[in-house]
Amino acid sequence: MPFVGGHPVLDFVNTVAWRLDPARTADRVQGPQEWVHWAAATGMLTADRAEALLRAETADSTTEAATEALVGLRATLSSVLDALVDDEKPPAGAWEALRQALVLARADATLPPGFPLQWQPGTDRLDDLRHALALRTEDLLSDDRLSRIRRCAGPGCGWFFLDRSRSGTRRWCSSTDCGNRDRAKRHYTRTRQHG
Ligand SMILES: [Zn+2]
Repeated sequence: MPFVGGHPVLDFVNTVAWRLDPARTADRVQGPQEWVHWAAATGMLTADRAEALLRAETADSTTEAATEALVGLRATLSSVLDALVDDEKPPAGAWEALRQALVLARADATLPPGFPLQWQPGTDRLDDLRHALALRTEDLLSDDRLSRIRRCAGPGCGWFFLDRSRSGTRRWCSSTDCGNRDRAKRHYTRTRQHG
């Protein structure tokens, strides 16, 4: 899976592909084991910790609940980010859910002090991954990165990314992906018109 978000929270939301095209929407990460692999791939979990977590996490109800909560946070973030990039007020329900996720994350004693600024990758439970993402959201939305959050202009894509271009005019999640499709489409239209 490509990481085009440029921020772990955006890559987290981007685990749903073709988010805005119901006919193609695909959840790329399913179940606790895949989430652990995903977290390791993003660098949020070290390989050692991921292995420990994979050994420890069994298909019990706790893990199921943690996975459900993680997916719930992802849905909350999608709707908050959609509103923010559209310059709209996030839906009250989603905003409240995000606030609660933050309160829970801060109250979790297993997180190292100084979080999020001195946060070091390394979580021990699937719940910790969710808490870490909630705290990273706070840091994403509370500094100048907020104005750099974009949603890909590709029809149906819906992926978010941080625009680090100097001009601040990046439009595509990836120039080789949605950007290419757009160029091909425009080329096709042009040649159809003039050909
Ligand atoms: Zn895209």
